[in-house]
Amino acid sequence: MSKYFTFSFDDGVTQDLRAIDIFKKHNFYGCTFFINTGLLGASWAWVGEQFGRPDVPHLRFTEEELKTGIYDGFDVAVHTLHHPSLSYYDDTPEKITEEVQGDADNIKRIFGYAPVGMSWPGGEFQATEKTIKTILETTDIRYSRAVQSTYGFRLPEDFMIWRPTCSLSDERTIELAKSFTELKTDEDALFCVWCHAYELDFFNTDGRLDELISIMTEANDIKCVTNTEFYNLFK
Ligand SMILES: [Zn+2]
Repeated sequence: MSKYFTFSFDDGVTQDLRAIDIFKKHNFYGCTFFINTGLLGASWAWVGEQFGRPDVPHLRFTEEELKTGIYDGFDVAVHTLHHPSLSYYDDTPEKITEEVQGDADNIKRIFGYAPVGMSWPGGEFQATEKTIKTILETTDIRYSRAVQSTYGFRLPEDFMIWRPTCSLSDERTIELAKSFTELKTDEDALFCVWCHAYELDFFNTDGRLDELISIMTEANDIKCVTNTEFYNLFK
């Protein structure tokens, strides 16, 4: 039986570069970046303002920047073209298809591989059974990472509502990482952490990310995989 660790970042913002520096320092490549290719280059300054931190940018990479190889060695997958609440389109399912498959097609064009995964824009609260059915029937997407923390290490029961263990911004992250390293189990186990890299600025958590990745990469019984690699192992 194995223990797996996987990380993911949403939105494809410029702070991803800082996370990637930390990852590379530890030779860690178990991260999936979920990006919005309909919003390349967009500045969402209101995100920082909403958090009372107007100094923190929310700036997505441009296509030219994506093509410089910033995500080389990592996994890139779908976060929809324009980050809508997908269930809003349940009565016009062709819009859901366009938002999801359109992003997947752009990723294939830019990066050369066809993604099978996404993360829910706005979290799983923005998805209904109908939304999920539309995605499964009309797109290549087969898993979707959610946001509600389980604080546990069980494998996802439903890959289309794949709830993570916690967010990096959760103060329990390091405590959970330590208990995962001590976990003795006769079942496969998963520690799944997600975040937005702009939250590194909001909560000053570069150090926490560094410590987390250090703990995970130094444990000799933990396999670090991307979200997509994990899905492919357990689908
Ligand atoms: Zn998002």
